[in-house]
Amino acid sequence: MPSREQLLEWDRRHVWHAFTQMAEYEPFIVERASGCRLFDIDGASYLDAVSSLWCNVHGHQHPIIDRAIREQLSRVSHVTSLGASNPTTIELAKRLCDLAPAGLEHVFFSGDGSSGVEVALKQALQYWRQRPSPRPEKTKYIALGEAYHGDTIGSVSVGGVARFHSMFEPLLFEVVRGPLPDTFRLPAGVAAGRACEHYLEQIERLLIAHGPRTAALVIEPLVQCAAGMVMHPAGFLAGVRELTRRHEVLMIADEVAVGFGRTGKMFACEHEGVEPDFLCLGKGLTGGYLAMAATLTTTEVWDAFLGDYAESKSFFHGHTFGGNPLAAAAANACLDVFEQERTLAKLPEKCAQLNKALDPLREHPRVGDVRQRGLLAAVELVQDKSTRTPFPWEQRRGAAVCDVAKQHGVWVRPLGGILVIMPPLTITLDEIDQIVAAITAGVHETL
Ligand SMILES: *Cc1c(COP(=O)(O)O)cnc(C)c1O
Repeated sequence: MPSREQLLEWDRRHVWHAFTQMAEYEPFIVERASGCRLFDIDGASYLDAVSSLWCNVHGHQHPIIDRAIREQLSRVSHVTSLGASNPTTIELAKRLCDLAPAGLEHVFFSGDGSSGVEVALKQALQYWRQRPSPRPEKTKYIALGEAYHGDTIGSVSVGGVARFHSMFEPLLFEVVRGPLPDTFRLPAGVAAGRACEHYLEQIERLLIAHGPRTAALVIEPLVQCAAGMVMHPAGFLAGVRELTRRHEVLMIADEVAVGFGRTGKMFACEHEGVEPDFLCLGKGLTGGYLAMAATLTTTEVWDAFLGDYAESKSFFHGHTFGGNPLAAAAANACLDVFEQERTLAKLPEKCAQLNKALDPLREHPRVGDVRQRGLLAAVELVQDKSTRTPFPWEQRRGAAVCDVAKQHGVWVRPLGGILVIMPPLTITLDEIDQIVAAITAGVHETL
């Protein structure tokens, strides 16, 4: 076992951390975790307020998920999905189809959310080329402002967060960029009551102009998490579904972040009765235990890939570990826990508690907005409350608040000046209060 000092040094020197400035990285080394608590190498413990970056669903070391992975280990750890299968992954595919919005009957497994989105993008394009009356000119994509769909080149192409993505522009394909359907910062002259209509009009204009050449529109349903927990107006998702149908454009719902109970229902699409053509799942799929993503689609899309071997209509795309049985065992167990613990039925009380606990923060002169959807919330810090002017991101106001929260035993990772609260769904009412108290302390101490 390396010593504590070695771990700190090796972490700084050899591990290149994601979305982290390594010149100033301060190691935070989690040695173990249990329930919603993380324990670092010094034995200090922290409440995990962001579900280990939005993926842990039922807490850490959940006995049912742990056992399922161990049992799978005793059978087989990996079976390729290239022309082969295994019982655990088959069962998972069937369960996902049963749970997902109607019409989604076929599952393609990959290793991470970015890949899950790329699969949908490629299948959509290939569908238009191979369906009975082909439309090979449909090769474009429509994506929303500030969209985040992952970090591979295809998913970055549909992404729209300039600070993350502009560097790679020479590598990206062109995308038709839609609006950011924000309910906190409305476009000038648009009243809150008309926001949904306004954004849908913009989408419709894009569909009229580009629909005939567009393969798919990709959207994060209800909440654009990486954009800063931007919440769409009610009715927007259903409106987009209706418009994409009318203009014959496939709809890809990227529920990598909002799926698996985050918004209060199993899938965010359920809130507006939306049946997308593709549903991308990741993060919480395995309860946040193992790397796995799934892309679900319809029989109409699937059928376009069927044919004689010589027609070469197969989906020529695959990930070595796609459908890995250990990950599938974790995912099946994650769904078991939803059933056995009635996770979703217990959420309304927790959401109400979070809402109540956050309420006093609204009064703070530097808190511009407190917004919540299910058990997913954000506190947005602003320089000027009346104009809703954000702090410049370089000032790292959110990080300063999170540092204080950590001293209070709560681990949070901000998005610029936006504090993200996305705890495991198993969080207790008392733990919700602790998270909000630590963040509140951070806001009061640093602002
Ligand atoms: C995290 C995320 C992704 C990418 O998933 P990875 O597993 O990190 O590749 C895609 N879409 C959304 C909405 C996400 O939040």
